[in-house]
Amino acid sequence: MDFGQLIKQYENCPCGQKHQCLIGDICIGSGITADVGRILEENGFGKSLLLVADETTLSAAEGIEKSLNGFRVTKHIYPTLRVATMTEVRRIKSYFEQGIEGVLAVGTGSIHDTCRKACAEADKKLCLYATAPSMDGFASYSAPIVDHNFKITYEAKCPEVIIADTAVLARSPVELKSAGFGDMMAKYVALIDWQVSRLITGESYCSRVAALTAKATNTVFSMADKVTAESEEGAKKIFEGLLLTGIAMSFTKTSRPGSGTEHIMAHYVECKELIENKVPNYHGEDVGVMTLLMLKQYDSILARDSVTAFPERNDWEDIKKTYGALAPDMMKLNTPDTITDGIDPTLIEKNFSAIKDVVRSVPRYEEVYAAMKKAGCKLTYKDIGKSRELIKEAFYYHPYMRRRLSLRRLINMTDIPLIEI
Ligand SMILES: [Zn+2]
Ligand SMILES: [Zn+2]
Repeated sequence: MDFGQLIKQYENCPCGQKHQCLIGDICIGSGITADVGRILEENGFGKSLLLVADETTLSAAEGIEKSLNGFRVTKHIYPTLRVATMTEVRRIKSYFEQGIEGVLAVGTGSIHDTCRKACAEADKKLCLYATAPSMDGFASYSAPIVDHNFKITYEAKCPEVIIADTAVLARSPVELKSAGFGDMMAKYVALIDWQVSRLITGESYCSRVAALTAKATNTVFSMADKVTAESEEGAKKIFEGLLLTGIAMSFTKTSRPGSGTEHIMAHYVECKELIENKVPNYHGEDVGVMTLLMLKQYDSILARDSVTAFPERNDWEDIKKTYGALAPDMMKLNTPDTITDGIDPTLIEKNFSAIKDVVRSVPRYEEVYAAMKKAGCKLTYKDIGKSRELIKEAFYYHPYMRRRLSLRRLINMTDIPLIEI
């Protein structure tokens, strides 16, 4: 796939938005680990390079150090890194005082997020060498970083260069590939939420960007049976799908094309567990399970012919109590008003049939469940080690932690009951 060509096609989009993606070069191929040094040189990386990895990702990227002949390489190798924290961002930045010109991040997730934030702060070039098709943040302009046990989304940079060796991706741990598949299925909920918000609030929307996400998601959906096999083709398709939705998100400068209410719900659970110092699951595992819950809820809408809508009734004392230590941050997003305040309930009633059409535009819960099962994904809250109480709480309360309209949030304004968990 020619990503440069694709990015060009979105210039001068009829929607009027300026769609940009600052990734300079994307190299995906079998055995290209041996070419990493050459790719960095071609993309103007200086000779003084910081290589950040953990022991697992470095050994997965066999041959990468050899390819860096001619570079002065400083290494920062973690035993393992499951959480990106401000402490680690500062640690990476401290290397820049020693004349480091660019960073090669080997891995995904926390290693990548840490480097994206550090390089953004210090204006250093960044290359991501991805070792697994596990999440969708490759092209993102923001990074979730934990500071004092709070996870905050900071401005970060997207890497100038992304490299993926499909042979390495195929050999990556199966749970990471399955997590990537789960993260892709979330796009169905994201697409529903984005379109529903556009219907009800007139939120900015681009049908071409939405179509890009839908196509990438459908392609990955159709690869479900290849996820757990050591298939280069399967791993490549998932990686491309994740990358494309990342590019879609950079086009809109919002996460709308790739993340809906299921991501917020996963975020809620993660924040609550961080307070208790629990090590988070892989992002796509939690997100996949939340996706199924949302699709089940959204499915319940299809059974209705009409709906009765009313202004949302919020008990803020109860909401604050449930958020606990997170309440002040949550309240900032709901003060002086909350996102549903400006919504005329009759708009929901009038648009109900259009909302149902939006829900029908993506596969049903049953179909996504079957695909995720084939793909080796975790499917229930028990599979991801959560209690029913926490999931129920997250399902009810998560919408308040983001100032963004979802169909899940709109249900609060209708007589449609929430599903039993
Ligand atoms: Zn557009
Ligand atoms: Zn995600």
